[in-house]
Amino acid sequence: MSKKLPSDLFPLLGSHVPTIGGVATAIDRGIGIGCTAIQIFVKNNMQWFAKPLPEADAKAFTKHPLRPRLGPVIAHAGYLINLAVEGTENHEKSLRSLSDEMLRCEQLGIRSLVLHPGSHLGAGIRQGIACVARNLDLLHAEHPTLKIRIALEITAGQGATLGARFEELADIITAVADPSRLEVCFDTAHAFAAGYDLSAADGAEKVFAEFDHIIGISRLSVLHINDSKSALGSRVDRHDNLGQGKIGLDAFRWIMNAPELAHLPKILETPKGKDLAEDVKAMKLLRGFIG
Ligand SMILES: [Zn+2]
Ligand SMILES: [Zn+2]
Repeated sequence: MSKKLPSDLFPLLGSHVPTIGGVATAIDRGIGIGCTAIQIFVKNNMQWFAKPLPEADAKAFTKHPLRPRLGPVIAHAGYLINLAVEGTENHEKSLRSLSDEMLRCEQLGIRSLVLHPGSHLGAGIRQGIACVARNLDLLHAEHPTLKIRIALEITAGQGATLGARFEELADIITAVADPSRLEVCFDTAHAFAAGYDLSAADGAEKVFAEFDHIIGISRLSVLHINDSKSALGSRVDRHDNLGQGKIGLDAFRWIMNAPELAHLPKILETPKGKDLAEDVKAMKLLRGFIG
């Protein structure tokens, strides 16, 4: 983050909040449950396209009186987008859909858009990585001046999904024409399911040291704080509430106290009801770990 945030916003902690009723309502919801950072979808995450975002809606968000009480707002890209295959109808749709999301983020003053790197659908990891890099180059070339940065998310590695090894993300970053336009999102549940043992003694410290060695902590723009219902190395992506899954609380305690992660927004994507009570409880737990 370039601009300096007031110290009372730290830790930058929050959750993925719904935008039902308009994108600006996400700010009210986030502030209402005590978030100092939030994540949103900038359009329906299960659809390719949406109506243009009216300028009035964007303004209601960027000029919201409570906006200064939140640090970064993170966007998460739609789930249909797949940049790891080419020559299909969905390839064109993926490019157009993500391009639209980049523009929506710009309208909303959002700087990080979390993206799953994609699935190579059997073509192989090397081909998939090259394909993702080519498509990111196309999007970057289409939008040379946008401030939005795509944050590649670590994945559980389900099926032919890319991004379950730090090396794969590092390879995408090195393969693009302008690596300065990419960031990384670290999801604890995904990393664990991919085989990074955050549950071991000093597990988080070791995993983040490895991450730093292969990708670099400075590349991180957001952390997803999720426990995992599925086992270590299972490659199955199932989030659980903190302390109820297989990671255990020690890793989250370490993350909340790690000086190298202190500047980063930490976002919950754990199961919750309509009133977001589970998020309130989880944030209280995480704040209690500090110190
Ligand atoms: Zn994700
Ligand atoms: Zn995530």
